[in-house]
Amino acid sequence: MSPTTTITRLGILGAGQMGAGIAQTAAQFGFEVLLADQSLEQSEKGKSKIAAQLKKQVEKGKLSDSESQKILSAIRPVSTLKDLGQASFVIEAATENPELKYKLFRNLDEACPPETLLATNTSSISITAIAAQTRRPEKVAGIHFMNPVPVMKLVEGIRGLQTSDETFKTTRWVAVQMGKTFIEAKDQPGFAVNRILMPMINEAVTTLHEGVASVEDIDTAMKLGTNQPMGPLTLADFIGLDTCLAIMQVLHEGLGDSKYRPSPLLKQYVAAGWLGKKSGRGFYKYDS
Ligand code: NAD
Repeated sequence: MSPTTTITRLGILGAGQMGAGIAQTAAQFGFEVLLADQSLEQSEKGKSKIAAQLKKQVEKGKLSDSESQKILSAIRPVSTLKDLGQASFVIEAATENPELKYKLFRNLDEACPPETLLATNTSSISITAIAAQTRRPEKVAGIHFMNPVPVMKLVEGIRGLQTSDETFKTTRWVAVQMGKTFIEAKDQPGFAVNRILMPMINEAVTTLHEGVASVEDIDTAMKLGTNQPMGPLTLADFIGLDTCLAIMQVLHEGLGDSKYRPSPLLKQYVAAGWLGKKSGRGFYKYDS
């Protein structure tokens, strides 16, 4: 089960909600973490968000102050992709945009030693296409964490056409070391989780757009009527409406079926900058 090379240090590219959550969980489970974003300032901002999360845990008595300090001291914000090359396993968790991910993988391929394994936390974009941007496609895999990473138990692993067994085995090992349950999905648009989840969220937005029910009633309907812990519009706000839209676009384009057409209301909210919890407003309003 364990990889042939010892992995003690992970590199994470993208220090937004997912990158920060992955960094926190990795550090909690004993990895050293190098955290990068578009600038050192943004990587440091990511670490500050982790510090704020940990502080809440300490205040609730779920974590001791010394444990929190230990986790934070294992996370080092860095400024360049070359810095990430000091890790033997790098997880990309930047914005869900195919062109951006292609560019980041070309740059990671340049910056990291040839033996470094490169994984992506993409929610929907083809692992095969991302891997093809590099000169090491057999060393690229999908490692799809759920949000919030410290809480959610699942990791969906995805093999590109080129991914080697060894790379996939190591990807599974990393997820399991982080306390996660690993499932395997084929490299098809949205993989398994978002192939099922995102059309449901999109339909909830369409239901709202057509005036079938209010935001609150749609969420209450799905919580109390189908036993979901969170209504679909709350969940969309939590995921980020830009991310939801990007995933629907990948499903629509990749599967070529009009049933995956992104809701025009979802597009409008994203155009307005109402991205959900992270921007302070989505289907609901949030305190900063
Ligand atoms: P986010 O908007 O919170 O964070 C994205 C981060 O990427 C930002 O910090 C941004 O500065 C950074 N970034 C953008 N361009 C960059 C570049 N050129 N170089 C380095 N960093 C760059 O988004 P998120 O919710 O953290 O999503 C990140 C990834 O995780 C996406 O691929 C998304 O699909 C996936 N994902 C999201 C969720 C979710 O619920 N939000 C769940 C699973 C997977």
